Amino acid sequence: MNVQVEDLTKAFSSKAAPAVFQANFEAPSGGITTLLGPSGSGKTTILRIIAGLESADAGRVLVAGEDITPVPVQKRGFGLVFQSFALFGHMTVRENVAFGLRTQRAPKNQIDARVAELLKLVQLEGYGDRYPGQLSGGQRQRVGFARALAPHPRLLLLDEPFGALDTRVRLELREWLRLLHEATHLTTILVTHDQEEALDLSDRIVVMDAGRIQQVGSPNEIYQLPATPFVASFIGSANVLRGRVSAGHAQVASLSLDVPANTPDGTAVRAIVRPHDIRIERAGNGNGVCSRRTAAGRISRMVNLGAHVKLDLALTTGDVVTVHVARREYDNLGLVAGESVLVDLESARVFVEDYVI
Ligand code: ADP
Ligand code: MG
Repeated sequence: MNVQVEDLTKAFSSKAAPAVFQANFEAPSGGITTLLGPSGSGKTTILRIIAGLESADAGRVLVAGEDITPVPVQKRGFGLVFQSFALFGHMTVRENVAFGLRTQRAPKNQIDARVAELLKLVQLEGYGDRYPGQLSGGQRQRVGFARALAPHPRLLLLDEPFGALDTRVRLELREWLRLLHEATHLTTILVTHDQEEALDLSDRIVVMDAGRIQQVGSPNEIYQLPATPFVASFIGSANVLRGRVSAGHAQVASLSLDVPANTPDGTAVRAIVRPHDIRIERAGNGNGVCSRRTAAGRISRMVNLGAHVKLDLALTTGDVVTVHVARREYDNLGLVAGESVLVDLESARVFVEDYVI
């Protein structure tokens, strides 16, 4: 079931900025599409509009080409899992999982068979007679998935489903969700603020900030080719260097970087470069001459992080950049704190307002 979100806008009050503004994206059939962004960026609002729990001020949602705006929540046939374990505490695990099927008045033998199938799928066989209070957080959330999946939903909507769990259980359930999805291929829309979870699980990522979609793309595209400085900084770590256009080039730190033709002098620019994409060379090593994309800096701090070493480099212009050097390269270079090096910023991406080159 492919889902198209078209021009969705929602404001909760006329005084505040809209929670969601003209959002457009498509969640392809059979994939995991993730809404990723900081707290308050409008992710839950979009998910609740898709679910039918909230109405949009403008725009619409199409499922398999059909506008579902007039369809009430219970007729949409979507499975919902939220961060809080919204299980019925007075019902056993079996009764919780059977809940949706009971309301559909399915025959008892069918319900029993489906519940058994679901408990197996979520690896909770033998837990059917327990109450939610007798389960761990991770087990409870798996019951939540089983309950959502029992009535054969056309779509799975997940709002920070692992948000209330500790890191270890979160990671376990992430792996588990991947396997579950491989087994079901159910079209899924996941909301998370956790970039690693998004990169790990998603076929497509919709990056949001302040109610607006910043970029839609595969995890690789979002990571390798961020469309805005926000995306670059929110996903993975990034150095941000500010500068201005002068004589047709962006002057950033001591570098002169390309900008689109006809960008007026004085335009503000930001150059973004990831710590592991920066190469460094020993200064004074023969051809240690600053080029257009090379700056000189001094190692102000070194931290050994095992697989790589993190260096803070104070550039001659006063900017500080963080560099991750692979262990082996670090050993080869034989770097010491306080020494001067050349920094190759070849892979910096320059953003002129909203324009990327
Ligand atoms: P996220 O899920 O990304 O954290 P939300 O969609 O929950 O973001 O919220 C987006 C914005 O809308 C926030 O500023 C939030 O305070 C506001 N908001 C969300 N729900 C309501 C509501 N029911 N009433 C008023 N404001 C709301
Ligand atoms: Mg939310």
